[in-house]
Amino acid sequence: MTASATINDTSTIIYHPVRKHEQQQAIDLWYSIFGTFPGMDDRYFGSLASPRYQEGDTLGAWFDGKLVSIVNIAHLILRSRDDDSEYQCATITCVGTLEEYRKRGYSRHLLRMAIDKMEQSGKFDVSILNTRGPKHYSILGWKQTTFEDVSTKRECTTKSKQIACPLSKYGCTSELLYDELPEHYSSSIHLEKLFKAIEIFVQELHSKPFYDNFQCDLEKDYYSEILPSINILAEGISCLHDDNVQIHNNFVQVLSKIVEQQKQIEKVKNSIEETSQMLYVADMNNKILQTQVETLKQTISDCSSTSSNDGSYVWKISNVSEKLADAIADRQTSIYSPPLYSSSTGYKMCMRLYMNGDGQARGTHLSLFFVLMRGDYDSILTWPFSYKVIFCLYDQTGSQRHIIDSFRPDIKSNSFQRPRSAMNIASGIPKFLPLSIIQPANNPYVRDDCMFIRCIVDFESMPKMCIPYALNLNLGLPMSIREKAIQAESEKLRSPSSLSTVTRCTESSTKIDHLTVKT
Ligand SMILES: [Zn+2]
Repeated sequence: MTASATINDTSTIIYHPVRKHEQQQAIDLWYSIFGTFPGMDDRYFGSLASPRYQEGDTLGAWFDGKLVSIVNIAHLILRSRDDDSEYQCATITCVGTLEEYRKRGYSRHLLRMAIDKMEQSGKFDVSILNTRGPKHYSILGWKQTTFEDVSTKRECTTKSKQIACPLSKYGCTSELLYDELPEHYSSSIHLEKLFKAIEIFVQELHSKPFYDNFQCDLEKDYYSEILPSINILAEGISCLHDDNVQIHNNFVQVLSKIVEQQKQIEKVKNSIEETSQMLYVADMNNKILQTQVETLKQTISDCSSTSSNDGSYVWKISNVSEKLADAIADRQTSIYSPPLYSSSTGYKMCMRLYMNGDGQARGTHLSLFFVLMRGDYDSILTWPFSYKVIFCLYDQTGSQRHIIDSFRPDIKSNSFQRPRSAMNIASGIPKFLPLSIIQPANNPYVRDDCMFIRCIVDFESMPKMCIPYALNLNLGLPMSIREKAIQAESEKLRSPSSLSTVTRCTESSTKIDHLTVKT
């Protein structure tokens, strides 16, 4: 337990326990620091000293061989009033330094030596000292306490007790469990109080001479060492406090922005709802318009396809293979032609075609029917409808082997009375053409997946022999020229010397004349 340090080139400081022959130097030092009182030597080293005192319990610092600072350890026994149990107790007494050697940390060094000695001995339950400067000693590990605290030290139950925050006298009034302390120390309320406490502490340091008696050199020493650190800490805490305030302000700003944005989102939501309602209405209107457009398209198509109101219409049927497949699969068994008119104020009519046959002809023949439709001038026309109807399926190869068939209406049938609904029941030729004729590839009637069927209403009762002639006339010729040609041919046929022409016509056409009615 001896230590030395060089102070300057020539001086040394040596620390070691006060030996028996040095005890007088110790007594002299105490006299010079604390003044005299009788029997001091006897009290510490003589008959009044503790029976447990051992040489070395007094520690000293020698400056160039002169004892200048001293600390004493006294050995006491504390006895509990409750259960009579004993506690081995080391008491620090008589801490002092000659005035001219203070502020050098000598007594602090001796106190550390005393602590080491007490701890290494292992025989003390507690160490106490009686002082008016508890703050100073708390730096070295002592703290203010009561005997009850000492007596409950071994079975410490502080963890389950509510304890006051150490800064309670600076306004941090929280009562906490032991385990809650670490979290509390980092709380903003505690840091704020800590900042205040340090401010007060620093002010005290600057303004109040609180050093007194024998601790003064030690405290001055210590505080002059830690003062810069405390100032730095205080500054740091001040900065932290400012940061905290700044963060709080930022947080408030962000919060108000969030509230503002939530309002905006609400507005956008409402406007989206309105827009979607408008879109729904627009969609409905669009659908209505679409239907109207379809109707208009149909009307225009009907108008354009009935440019000639002469009771004759050539129906171009495209996508024949698809329509045949639809009919076979029952997806759509029949199709209607656009309407044809007998004149601009005449009968309204159309054709109905069963690509895969109808009734008994199903799967074997094309069925072709004539339909009377309700027209705008029906009320001033002649009823029932009694004119012969001629159908023709065109040969597209140029060899004029057209399929021609006709029928005369049964005027008792409802099909030929004035229409009371949009359409009368179709009537015509169920076995117009065996399917086997149009099924082979390269047959003359279906080319480029299209076929042409013509309907002629014969208002003039053409001679039968003239029908093939009329159908063979080039459709590219103007109507007036074709009419003239047909008229001339009719007259020629009606005269007795015209048989050769009839023969020519029948040779190149398939001519059937019968009447069938679809019901
Ligand atoms: Zn606190």
